[in-house]
Amino acid sequence: MNIQTITKLLTDAGIEENEARVEIKMLLEHFCKYTELDKAKGKVLEEEQLEYLENKVMERIRDRKPVQYIIGEAYFMGEYFKVTPDVLIPRDETEILVREAIEIIRGNGLKDVLDIGTGSGCIACTIAKQTDAVVLGIDISSDALRIALDNVTRLGINNRAVFRKSNLFEKIREEERFDIILSNPPYIPKGTALQQEVCHEPQIALFADDGGLEFYKKIIRRAPEYLKPEGWLMFELGMGEAESVKNLMKKEFKDIIVVKDLAGIDRVIYGKVKTKD
Ligand code: GLN
Repeated sequence: MNIQTITKLLTDAGIEENEARVEIKMLLEHFCKYTELDKAKGKVLEEEQLEYLENKVMERIRDRKPVQYIIGEAYFMGEYFKVTPDVLIPRDETEILVREAIEIIRGNGLKDVLDIGTGSGCIACTIAKQTDAVVLGIDISSDALRIALDNVTRLGINNRAVFRKSNLFEKIREEERFDIILSNPPYIPKGTALQQEVCHEPQIALFADDGGLEFYKKIIRRAPEYLKPEGWLMFELGMGEAESVKNLMKKEFKDIIVVKDLAGIDRVIYGKVKTKD
């Protein structure tokens, strides 16, 4: 048994070759402290380590469990976040939302950010770490908030990313105002068939009514009350949802911009709240 034969277990189970290599690398680093550098130096793994790796690969194959849940962490924008099946695994696409937000925050010296449906806290924590803003992350799930709090400690950003249990705006106080409200809401239309791996993720983080638009509608309706003048509303978008969300935003928001992801899919939308006269 060696790394190649164990990698082959993954590819034989239908996992694409590049993906299999990345996953083996993650498992090796996490469980065996064996890095790419060790590999380049030709360091040999002990039989016991290989056996352990094989067991983890079998767990991956048997349950189709995402490798991030097996190791309990996921890489996002330069940091390792704790993840469990109580939270969504951070996606590469979400980087686009976070990068746009960071640029706006830095460029305008903004301070107060609200992240709705914070989950693992990956968005809130990254913004707090990379800007001077204070981010309030809210979520309906107490289990998710516990993970988010662990991630605050991991990243050493206590007091700059704070969390509160709230069903959307329910526990946002009347006088609270934000420069930016952002969200990567559940946006998969209910009833959509998913890849087996995705079925391990929390359903409430994935699915939305109204053909996927439920949370965009609910957030767009209430966001203007909680935004400062010239405040921004920003969303990650599900596939094919840009036009509908843009139409929902048009009445109360201006300067609306849509940003595509690397696959050319409209992935992020944001705009500024219109001033009331
Ligand atoms: N904010 C978290 C993320 O982007 C969780 C989003 C969600 O659960 N829909 O990963």
